[in-house]
Amino acid sequence: MKRIGLIGGMSWESTAVYYRLLNEAVRQAGGPLDSADILLHSLNFSDVVALQKAGRWDLAAAKLADSARRLERAGADCVLICTNTMHLVSAEVAGAVSIPLIDIIAETGAALAARGARRPLLLATRYTMEHGFYAERLAQATGFRPMVPQAADRETVHRVIFEELCAGRVLDSSRRELTAIVERGVAAGADSVILGCTEIVLSLDPDALPVPGFDSTAIHAAAAARFAMAFQDQLRERMVA
Ligand code: GLU
Repeated sequence: MKRIGLIGGMSWESTAVYYRLLNEAVRQAGGPLDSADILLHSLNFSDVVALQKAGRWDLAAAKLADSARRLERAGADCVLICTNTMHLVSAEVAGAVSIPLIDIIAETGAALAARGARRPLLLATRYTMEHGFYAERLAQATGFRPMVPQAADRETVHRVIFEELCAGRVLDSSRRELTAIVERGVAAGADSVILGCTEIVLSLDPDALPVPGFDSTAIHAAAAARFAMAFQDQLRERMVA
């Protein structure tokens, strides 16, 4: 099995979900006592948030690239940035190492395309919804761009992510607000919803939405588990041959 390198802590609330999903996937494929081979570098999220707020994506890129190098030196076979927002600097991170970076936007795009979704509503941080990197990269992967909520709703999603979900607070009132935002998106023509922030699944159940929901955390973790176990399959085949 290959070793999965995680750049996490952004926030740790969602990194904990990655950890559980990766282990569950390996247990399901292997056996009750099988678990994933994981290296985690968990950052102090406050430091990352300060760089985001200051628009210092150059320094954020350097920080995450350093983390990726540490994971590679420690023996990771791949690296994941466990947040959608920080994929803004994924090219710099990927360029810092020789192991593959498993990209959350490409994987989410592949999942959308496989299900025939073409007008997804993107729920994410303000950076992810407004900066342009996500829409461009999704378009590269799929040929279509995501819809985003209207301005006031984008503000709500951003606030819920940073003030509540990343801080460990899951409120029913906010779940209702997010659900109303989804309903407005569907009324405006969305055929699907991207849970494009790794904490949103803590509030919204992707399978309980009026249109198909695509949880970026689960999609990303599943891609990493496939990567890790594909190697195991090859090994088994070689041993049998
Ligand atoms: N985890 C979130 C995401 O997927 C937000 C935290 C961050 O700003 O990195 O975008």
